[in-house]
Amino acid sequence: MASGNHRIDTRLIHAGEPDKRICGAVSLPVFQSSTFEYAGQSNYDDLKYIRMNNTPNHEVLHKKLAAIENAGAALVTASGMAAISTTLLALFSPGDHILVQDCLYGGTRDFIASDFAPLGFQFDFIDADDPASWTAKIKANTRGLYAETITNPLLQVGDLKALSEFARTNGLISMIDNTFATPVNFRPAEWGYDISLHSCTKYLNGHSDIVAGAVIGREDMVKKIAHKLIHLGGSLDPHACFLLHRGMKTLAVRIRHQNRSAQAIAEYLAGHPAILRVNYPGLPDHPGHDRARRLLAGFGGMISFELKGGLSAAEQFMQQVTVPIVAPSLGGVETLVTRPATTSHAGMRPEERQAAGISDSLIRLSVGIEDTQDLIDDVDNALAGS
Ligand code: PLP
Repeated sequence: MASGNHRIDTRLIHAGEPDKRICGAVSLPVFQSSTFEYAGQSNYDDLKYIRMNNTPNHEVLHKKLAAIENAGAALVTASGMAAISTTLLALFSPGDHILVQDCLYGGTRDFIASDFAPLGFQFDFIDADDPASWTAKIKANTRGLYAETITNPLLQVGDLKALSEFARTNGLISMIDNTFATPVNFRPAEWGYDISLHSCTKYLNGHSDIVAGAVIGREDMVKKIAHKLIHLGGSLDPHACFLLHRGMKTLAVRIRHQNRSAQAIAEYLAGHPAILRVNYPGLPDHPGHDRARRLLAGFGGMISFELKGGLSAAEQFMQQVTVPIVAPSLGGVETLVTRPATTSHAGMRPEERQAAGISDSLIRLSVGIEDTQDLIDDVDNALAGS
């Protein structure tokens, strides 16, 4: 089906779909079969079996995901963390050293901080904003570099162009978690990244009803990661593949609405007297705003902010909102609100969170696709009572 030349909106709908529709079905059916009739395959990885990630539901997703990020290949996994951990385990060996951005999703950071040492991996944190400081962190055994496009939960945008160039110059594998930006706002392969990682649980699926992940990038590396995934067993079930596939078709429409709505809400918050600080890359006073304008097609649907009244005001605000749902996770059609210190970053020690700039009173808002003015009115009411 479609198409080298089509834009992302068209690729989301048509790329990777079977050339000949199965029984004419416009929507690819769910192939809920763990195994498939033997067809003479001579290679173990080619046997048709759900754990081999090669049912029709997997294959359409792999082609579509690669097409929407303009990358060589893609692989879906049982969760975002399965994508991240399997990638690191596949591409690195004991004794390797990896440079890691210092503000990351808490689960990734915890995996690196707790599990790297027993695996024999080494790491150093880098400030993604300060290219002059990176060379001093390189060691003879440095092999990789890991960053996030827009960081969770502080919404920082590092020097992403300099990061991928630095990795290439120094022969490092460059990896970036593109969950917050999504392929609509940023396509890592176009900026020289080897591997892009996603929690598809969030925007790619967009409906808060599955947990899934994806690895997108260089074909040789994705092949290696796919082989490791077969060993580790973190395969996505075909029914979850089907839901992800269905959700992805509306990605561009959802993200453009979320970009616009989050911008309006961030501007409203920035002008409110009860607000201490708003983190949103679309605001002119965000430290990475000019860079984000150059790198991103949109600033995304995530906002974090602090109230002048601190923790008690934050807790009260979260009790007062009626449209946003107080829940962890993000990227769905419904607006979600959470305090990262108690959810996404609860695995970090309080002093680590403080050092990373994540206060206990920080509120994170994942803007859904509800009416923007309804959300602003609701936030306005909640702020009046907090
Ligand atoms: N990456 C980011 C940026 C996330 O926010 C999350 C989860 O919140 C993950 C990865 C992990 O994804 P999952 O929960 O699908 O394993």
